[in-house]
Amino acid sequence: MKGRFPLTKMRTEIRKIDAESLALAKEIILQGGVVGMPTETVYGLGGNAFDDSAVQRIFAVKGRPADNPLIAHVHTDYDLSKLIDYDPPYAKKLREAFLPGPLTLVYPSTGKVSKYVSCGLNTLAIRVPSHEGAQAFLREVGLPIVAPSANLSKHVSPTSAKHVLDDFDGLIPLILDGGECVGGIESTVCDVTGKEPVILRPGLVTQAMIADVVGSCGVYSPKFAAGEKVKSPGVLYKHYSPRCATALFASDEIAAASEYAKKALAEGKRVGWLSSESAKSGLPSGAVLFNLGMTEDEMAASLYAHLRSAEEVCDLLVAIEPQKQDGKMAGVLNRLRKACASVDIPH
Ligand code: AMP
Ligand code: MG
Repeated sequence: MKGRFPLTKMRTEIRKIDAESLALAKEIILQGGVVGMPTETVYGLGGNAFDDSAVQRIFAVKGRPADNPLIAHVHTDYDLSKLIDYDPPYAKKLREAFLPGPLTLVYPSTGKVSKYVSCGLNTLAIRVPSHEGAQAFLREVGLPIVAPSANLSKHVSPTSAKHVLDDFDGLIPLILDGGECVGGIESTVCDVTGKEPVILRPGLVTQAMIADVVGSCGVYSPKFAAGEKVKSPGVLYKHYSPRCATALFASDEIAAASEYAKKALAEGKRVGWLSSESAKSGLPSGAVLFNLGMTEDEMAASLYAHLRSAEEVCDLLVAIEPQKQDGKMAGVLNRLRKACASVDIPH
């Protein structure tokens, strides 16, 4: 189609966010192209939510399964009534408490965005990112922008412009560089179509934080009855995975993990050790340490960068689960377990 972005190989530019790069990004979006964009959680691959071919292009370029719906990103003053059919009073409270920020809300949809966005569901996931550069981009285009994480499907999510380039060099025209993401794991996804909010994907806005604001909050478990339609399809896939072998151990299995790592070292493998500060005691000599740090926020912010570094230099990454597993750590653990999963089954 004339004026549309070609599907052929192209030069990928990384540009700091300024008036010129924002104007270029807008031009690309209006022509149906996709743009790498920063958010406070991870980088996204953004396209016009109203444009069927832009949305299909996102699925194609990522290799994303066709039943894994996308999140629409909007600026802080966007009129949500264009997109959502029903807005329960408790959702307003959640928006006031947490937005802009790393919380995605799933509403009944007006169906105005491309039918490919929600993959046949009658709901729409909407997020208002707090990242200044993301807000500037969303204001510039004035459209809802669907933006899944800017990684090839199943690969580790990107927390820098360089990570996006590593996966999409030659496949997208522009990456807006907004620095390193401070959050580090994807937004909490929370369904607000029912009587109470239900978390579909854990993140840095926790169940307790949501329940504090609106009185209660459920957590959806992907273990569903045969024949039941899964509520948030993305939760089923192996995800966030480095391109090296992985072995995940519980926090009380440091000695066993250490033995496992030593055996691999003895076989001549290049071995990495990913753990919090407190579990680095098990690091065998000869293994490379990827230290997640001490606090929940440090661990979330550094997880993906470590997984991407590990795949560069290791044949095997031995990972230790953090000791604390609730609150924000539920999100970190969820990503770590999927990164180290070896099969595409519900887990
Ligand atoms: P990503 O864009 O890679 O961060 O993944 C988006 C996540 O949001 C996936 O887990 C999707 O399943 C979830 N999601 C997007 N839209 C919906 C929706 N309408 N209903 C439920 N979950 C959704
Ligand atoms: Mg993703």
